[in-house]
Amino acid sequence: MQAHKPLTHRGIEIVRPDVPGAPVTWTHDESNARGTAETVEAARVQINIHLGTPDPDCSSCNGTGKEDFAWLAYIPCPLCFPEELA
Ligand SMILES: [Zn+2]
Repeated sequence: MQAHKPLTHRGIEIVRPDVPGAPVTWTHDESNARGTAETVEAARVQINIHLGTPDPDCSSCNGTGKEDFAWLAYIPCPLCFPEELA
């Protein structure tokens, strides 16, 4: 019996911990990359950064990577590229 349904983001598996407070982990076999995050949302952001392209299913920027795409402004989406805001 599984504690959680398998969860993937953009084809990369996100594994939620069985123990509360333990980190969420993700692994990308193709590029031999992995990471840990505090939340599933944070893991999704890490995966977006790892892949280097906007999340096509991002509800904030609609996959453009720009938060304010309607005005053609170059504002990086905080969900896809939060480090560019630093
Ligand atoms: Zn986005």
